[in-house]
Amino acid sequence: MPATKVLIVEDETPIREMIAFHLARAGYDTLEAADSRRARELLADERPDLALVDWMLPDMSGLELTRMLRRDQDNESLAIIMLTARADENDKVSGLESGADDYLTKPFSPRELVARIQAVLRRSSMSGETVLKAELLELEPAGHRVIAAGRELQLGPTEYRLLHFLMAHPERVYSRAQLLDRVWGANVYIEERTVDVHVRRLRKILEPSGADRYIQTVRGAGYRFSARGGNA
Ligand code: CA
Repeated sequence: MPATKVLIVEDETPIREMIAFHLARAGYDTLEAADSRRARELLADERPDLALVDWMLPDMSGLELTRMLRRDQDNESLAIIMLTARADENDKVSGLESGADDYLTKPFSPRELVARIQAVLRRSSMSGETVLKAELLELEPAGHRVIAAGRELQLGPTEYRLLHFLMAHPERVYSRAQLLDRVWGANVYIEERTVDVHVRRLRKILEPSGADRYIQTVRGAGYRFSARGGNA
């Protein structure tokens, strides 16, 4: 198995080099970026597994960078840990809301950093491969398979991503705009009614099994996945 690649995005050279040194010693491959522009180049070229993103960067805040990365479908499996010198609770909340998986306040020990990296990677690999089940319906990310009432279904890539997202976040209502952001990526400019088109297609594929009733329309709000019966 290739070594896990960690991208360190930090403009303060001594800190960045210190982190790289300790991560290399812990067996990780490291990539270094001093600003978000370089970070995005390395993300595209090297496909790291995890990014450590400093809060204060010269060209863009770490928060903005994290938001940007989260909106981009290409970085779907990237784990992100924010680094900051601030201990403020609000910053922590906005760090996590931006899409970071965890948060580490400076100064931290190398041992703490490695422990957090391991925990985040364990969580993200689990969520990526977990088989999602809801009564009649089963989605296996590893094999890219959807089975309804024991029969394998043929889904288009968008319907598959949409179903995956909804099944991974059951019992929650998502607006069309939120679904566009999370399933299509916010860098793509598509009309909101595109969501309706794909929901209709998805329901049609699920219909013979009866699982179409899990994709529920919540009037004036959006869509929800629920296997608990409901309004359909
Ligand atoms: Ca900094």
